[in-house]
Amino acid sequence: MRKVVKFGGSSLASAEQFKKAKEIICADSERKFVVPSAPGKRNAKDTKVTDMLYACYETAEKGEDFKPQLKAIKARYEEIISGLSLTLSLDSEFKTIEGNFKKKAGRDYAASRGEYLNGIIMAHYLKYTFVDPAEVIFFDEDGEFDADKTNAVLSERLEKTERAVIPGFYGSLPDGTVHTFSRGGSDVTGSIVAKAVKADVYENWTDVSGFLIADPRIIENPEGIETITYRELRELSYMGAGVFHEDAIFPVRKEGIPINIRNTNAPEDNGTWIVGSTCQKSKYVITGIAGKKGFCAINIEKDMMNAEIGFGRKVLQAFEDNGISFEHVPSGIDTMTIFVHQDEFIHKEQKVVGSLHRLANPDSIDIESDLALIAVVGRGMRATRGTAGRIFSALAHVNVNVKMIDQGSSELNIIIGVANNDFETAIKAIYDIFVVSQL
Ligand code: ASP
Repeated sequence: MRKVVKFGGSSLASAEQFKKAKEIICADSERKFVVPSAPGKRNAKDTKVTDMLYACYETAEKGEDFKPQLKAIKARYEEIISGLSLTLSLDSEFKTIEGNFKKKAGRDYAASRGEYLNGIIMAHYLKYTFVDPAEVIFFDEDGEFDADKTNAVLSERLEKTERAVIPGFYGSLPDGTVHTFSRGGSDVTGSIVAKAVKADVYENWTDVSGFLIADPRIIENPEGIETITYRELRELSYMGAGVFHEDAIFPVRKEGIPINIRNTNAPEDNGTWIVGSTCQKSKYVITGIAGKKGFCAINIEKDMMNAEIGFGRKVLQAFEDNGISFEHVPSGIDTMTIFVHQDEFIHKEQKVVGSLHRLANPDSIDIESDLALIAVVGRGMRATRGTAGRIFSALAHVNVNVKMIDQGSSELNIIIGVANNDFETAIKAIYDIFVVSQL
């Protein structure tokens, strides 16, 4: 058995946290491959090292004195090193970093040093081999992750290594320049490593005991999710549920490697299992609720729309031409509505309307703003009658007007559009009906 363990930034923010991580790793000899993030926040007011690096590099890029900022970053690592009583000096590493900042080595290079340095400390602390991701994780010329090349090189490299630390978040472009994934991307690295070593489990250690059914900022003490499928998770994270980077699902999904989200501060908790499929019923009809605010709906009307072949294509063309991706397209007999992100759309609004008139020649176009979308997700919905009915009666009961309904044909989720102002009330009502009262 082999396990890949990824530790998030808050799990490695201080020497104390490093000690907890080591204890977890040493408690199970199968935990052979470790993927660390950069040190995160030690408390609510603290700054993540990644953000300190971005800020420091910005100063360097302007040609201003960035040394005090770099010194503060170095101090974060030195505090960890001395707290762990290690005999390790990062002086020469910081000399190199300083030189590269002066040479303007790039924003991605700057950010990646957070993981790189934490990886050096972790490898030293565990006595594991350090593997620099710049040598084994690759992106193409356009900055897209090169899965095939990475898997070939990484699996060969790790085959020869009994136990290794592979820092998260970055790799390299074909010309050797360091390139990062998007924020939170160490989750993706963990998944790539799990695939390369054909791991039995990918453990993702963070600061919560897995996923919660709903956002704790909206629902007080929501219940946790024991098991969730990749597809359910994809729906929920797309809709804004945090904790795990949504791209991190893809590498392990095809290989059928389960992901276990665990809490570094409560290792005895089972956390959440993310699996391909399961016969395990979720405790409730729904597995989770997530949502996002800030959408616009563009309602397009045209008589006899249903008979006009190609109308939908022309409408979507107007959005494509202006570089806007759409989220949902509910339609009626003579109407079609396009949901888009308000902040993306707002600057291009009149251009899109112009294109729509030109391409599709509609009778009217009406724009509604400040809308929220809520996804109610659950593999159990398929086998249960009346889920939609229950959602809508719960919403009617708390006076929330439903502006849009979209149920995917997989019956895995129901998406509901409401006004931004009704967002929290709607989520509470749905949570109440399915989890609290279990009606
Ligand atoms: N350190 C990076 C970030 O803050 C990547 C990660 O932690 O996953 O986004």
